[in-house]
Formats: sequence, structure tokens, C-alpha cells
Amino acid sequence: MNDTIRRSAAAQAAALAAGEITSEDLTCAHLDRIRAVDTDLNAFLHVSEEEALTTARDVDARRSAGEELHPLAGVPIAVKDVAVTEGIPTTAGSKMLEGWLPPYDATLVATLRSAGLPILGKTNMDEFAMGSSTESSAFGPTRNPWDRERIPGGSGGGSSAAVASYEAPLAIGSDTGGSIRQPGAVTGTVGVKPTYGSVSRYGLIALASSLDQAGPVARTVEDAALLHELIAGHDPLDSTSLPDPVGAYAEAAHRKDVRGMRIGVISELEGEGFDPEVRARFTESLAQLEQAGAEIVPISCPNFRYALGAYYLIMPSEASSNLAKFDGMRFGLRVVPEDSPTAESVMKATRGAGFGQEAKRRILLGTYALSAGYYDAYYGSAQKVRTLVQGDFSAAFDQVDVLASPTSPTVAFRLGEKIDDPLAMYLNDIATIPANLAGVPGISVPSGLAEDGLPAGIQFLAPTRADERLYRIGGALEALLEDAWGGPLLAKAPELVSGAN
Ligand code: GLN
Repeated sequence: MNDTIRRSAAAQAAALAAGEITSEDLTCAHLDRIRAVDTDLNAFLHVSEEEALTTARDVDARRSAGEELHPLAGVPIAVKDVAVTEGIPTTAGSKMLEGWLPPYDATLVATLRSAGLPILGKTNMDEFAMGSSTESSAFGPTRNPWDRERIPGGSGGGSSAAVASYEAPLAIGSDTGGSIRQPGAVTGTVGVKPTYGSVSRYGLIALASSLDQAGPVARTVEDAALLHELIAGHDPLDSTSLPDPVGAYAEAAHRKDVRGMRIGVISELEGEGFDPEVRARFTESLAQLEQAGAEIVPISCPNFRYALGAYYLIMPSEASSNLAKFDGMRFGLRVVPEDSPTAESVMKATRGAGFGQEAKRRILLGTYALSAGYYDAYYGSAQKVRTLVQGDFSAAFDQVDVLASPTSPTVAFRLGEKIDDPLAMYLNDIATIPANLAGVPGISVPSGLAEDGLPAGIQFLAPTRADERLYRIGGALEALLEDAWGGPLLAKAPELVSGAN
């Protein structure tokens, strides 16, 4: 494997700036890597080789002409297939959109393009971002680079697997209930869900609009911070976009000082149901932070126990409404039944053929929860729980600077293990969902190896608009743990270090 692609995005950017390598060579090295490993991993649904190389050559030319470029210019990136990309196929992991060429770019994609990041391709995901394993993709599952028989998390398993396996130094994910953080945890990578409204949702194919948030997927906290700084910012095309200036995330990641920081350990998210080894890595991580001068405070968030139930009413309700547009009339798949088709029979046939099982399940759940007569009992109650969860966060953040929990209750499970048991699948999100209900930002950082040598993650949550705190604590913990491990966790992945892979 070419050594350059194993470097962090920041180091790749520095090599480009110093003229040690061209973006074209760097992009080619990543495309070679994709060719070598992706038949097996299936992290990419589409590789946009030509587009990536065109951007790379353009950046190289501008750099040689002495033009001032964005610090990440020339560093390639992978984009979750939930973000629309002009002229590059976009499916959201669904047969519904197979073969669709979007006529425009999502705002964050336009930002990546104008900063000169070559887009390597679109990454695999659970259909319409529904799932925790990437097994609900209509185009086959992605495999975990640590162990090919295991899931890479979901819904953004493609982005995290691509970054973990050095196919891309950076990727974009989207997190509605954990789909950036949980894949990060189970692949030994870093994932950040920014404050709701701080990264534009314009051009993201919606799962649940009040919960969806795009964010960075990376191998280091600093890389996540650099990408976050690029994609954040006000967007008039997104009605829920915040007007805030972008924070100094990279600076926070470099600080590596947690003295005086108060870390609240959420008592509802560390006991029953959490794998003992995942908990052990969590406790050890906290001990490192405590030794470095942080204060650990137990915190109770009593309403978090209802968060999963509320999420699985609010999310399908919004999803059932967002997915109504896939009806065979306007764009995407159209299935026309043979004898005397009517608009209704075309819609029925199209939706029957185009949606997979999980999408259908959620459309049914959501339609039911929103129906007259049940609305107050289900959707209305769930919204009340949402307010209670927000109240728990406010009360907690009166006492501590950040909250902490394991990101996911277990390490990566086996492909096929939970796909036929929706409840078991939904439980993977128990720790990540509260943040989406409240709009607060969260980061997942590798916490070490648990049983079978598989990675575990620790999650930190901060108040809305205080994303910098995540980078401060994440950067500090990463440095402490890498000192203890003698290098990054990914260097311990057996299949990844053995050149052949
Ligand atoms: N796994 C969660 C779900 O299935 C979260 C999905 C997401 O964040 N997109 O809904």
C-alpha cells in the first residue's frame, strides 16, 4: 500500500502544500486503493474517477500558478450517497433512485468542490439512511475492514469503512440517530454530528428533517475538525440553518488540555445492555482524562430511557412524509402494471418494488403514528418526550461542560445477526439518539479494542453551538490514548496492516 494514503488528511494537505506530492498522484493512489479493496468491502456505490482526476489536475494547476488555495485543496474525499451530486449518480442506497443523475449539488458538495477536494465517489448506506449496519442498502452490505464478516455500522457504513481502509482520508456522513457516530465507533474512526442546523441540509435526501445533520468522518480528530470548519456555515437555502459564525475547531483539537473540564457520565447509558469490554474501554478512557486534569461527575438524565421510543415514532413519522414524493410520477423508479394502469396503481407498484423492507416498515409505522385518532397518543407523546430529553440536557449542562457515554453498546456484530430483528437493530442507537432529539453536537472517538480485537468508541456530547468542546476533549483523549497504545488504533487492524488488504 502506498504510504501517503495512510497519512492523516492534515498530513496529506501539508505534503501537497510543500509540493512533495501532487493532488493527481494522491487521488490516483486512493483510486488504486479503491480498486484493490472495494470489490470486497463494497464501501462505494459509485467511483467518480474522471471527476476526481479533473478536480485534482485543476488544483495542481492552480497551485503551480501560485493561487491561494483552501488548506484541504487537493485532498480527496468520499461522500455518503445521501448527498446529491450534480452529474454523479445518487441513490441514497435505494432502488427508487437507481440511475438518477441529480441536476444540482447539495450545498456541502458545492462547498467541497469550490474548495478543490476531489470527490472520489459516493459511499454505501442503509436505504434512505435507515439502519445501523448498512445491510439495508439495496446494493448489498458494506463489510467492516477490521473483520469482513462483520458490519461497519450504519447507516453510513460506507463512509466509515472507506476512511478506515484508507480508500479515502475524509468522508461525509449524515446522522439522524447516530449514523456518523456509531459507524465511527465500530470501525475505529472519528465521527462528528455537528449542532443541528450548523451544516446545511440543502441537497441531503431527507430521512427525518428535524433530526438529520451532515458531518465529518475522519481518522483523526484534527481531520474531522478541518472538514467541519469547511462544511459548516449559514445557508439561505436551508430554512433551519443557523446564522452562527463557524467555530475554531482545529484550534480546539490542537489544544490537548482538559484541565478543569467537567465531564458528566450519563448513568442511564453505561449499565445494562452495554458490553462489559466496551464499558471497560470507556472507563479507562475516562481515567486517562481524569489523570490529565478533568473532573468526572456522575449525571442522571432520567428521560433518556424514553428517547429510543420517542425517536422511533418521530423519525418514521417524518420519514413517511419525506418519502411520499417517491411515487413513480416525478422522478426515480416507475413501475407500470400491465393492464390499464391508473396513477394509483402505478404509485402502488412503484412503491412496492422500489422500497426495501425497512423503508416499508418505517413508512407504515409513521403513517400510523400520524393518522387521525392516533396522532396525539403517538406523535404528540413522542414530541413531549423530546422536550423532556432537551430538559435533561439543559439541566446536565448546568453542571458539566460535556457528557460522555460509550458510543455504541457493542462492537461490530456479524453480518446477518440482527437484520431480521428490528428491535435488536434499533437498540444500537440507544446512546446516540438523545443528541439528535435535542439537536446537540456529538463526537465518537476510538476508545480501544474490545473482545475479538474489535474497536470500541467513546462519545462526547456538548451543548448546542459548543461544538468546539468536542474537539478539545476529543483531541486530548486521542493524544492520551495514542501515547498509551504507541500509535493510532487503526494501526492495530490486522487485515489493514497486512499490505495485501
Ligand atoms: N440507526 C438509526 C436508524 O436506523 C439512525 C439512522 C441515521 O442516523 N441515519 O434510524
